[in-house]
Amino acid sequence: MKDSYRHKGLRAKLVKQLKDKGIKDIKVLAAIGAIPRHYFLDNAFDEWAYKDQAFPIGSGQTISQPYTVARQSELLEIFDKCKVLEIGTGSGYQAAVLATMNAKVYSIERQKLLFDKTSSFLPKIGFNSIRTLYGDGYEGSPRFAPFDRIIATAGINEIPKKLFQQLKVGGIMLLPIGDQRGQVMTRILKTSETSYDKETFGKFSFVPFLKGTSGMENHKRKTEEKILR
Ligand code: SAH
Repeated sequence: MKDSYRHKGLRAKLVKQLKDKGIKDIKVLAAIGAIPRHYFLDNAFDEWAYKDQAFPIGSGQTISQPYTVARQSELLEIFDKCKVLEIGTGSGYQAAVLATMNAKVYSIERQKLLFDKTSSFLPKIGFNSIRTLYGDGYEGSPRFAPFDRIIATAGINEIPKKLFQQLKVGGIMLLPIGDQRGQVMTRILKTSETSYDKETFGKFSFVPFLKGTSGMENHKRKTEEKILR
């Protein structure tokens, strides 16, 4: 993996584009400016890494559009060493942005193949502090709770009760709430164990969350189905 002058140039342009689209948080812009996003895509798609677009990463999933990553990172109001739980590790890019902003990141992925791939990849490019977890994000992580921040990086149709319980009072949870047709970025501020304030920040388009986990057995079955067809 190489971070060339060309990559750096394209990245600087992307940061400029994000600024023009309204991203103001300098910590967010600095993180996106620092992280080689092309490492998170297959080599063949180098060219795509610095376009403001989502992109497939395998296992039927996508790496979120840079603007979406930037906006979510900004809305989370990250502070030094805050404990963040991410639902939907995917490529690990969003987790890397939050870690670069000095958050302590825990990230859950339900697809075993993606989990394995991203868990071994992140330390290789220097992100040793990100704790990746395999499981159903709807369950959160009782082991590492409570969290200062919780971020969902796929569409969700409600506020999951278990995640709300694992959020500290005063903490923020950011969820794209809706169905396959689109979601509204929703920020929940937990005001007590049983109450919250809610703000919304416009429409977004994410892949939907799926319940439960998908392990090697499922993958094997899918591969077999393909061979049969
Ligand atoms: N944050 C990612 C983008 C994630 S796309 C990045 O920066 O690349 C959404 C991810 O959520 C996919 O990887 C998908 O497999 C995962 N996902 C879907 N349902 C889930 C669930 N219930 N628990 C945990 N992860 C889930």
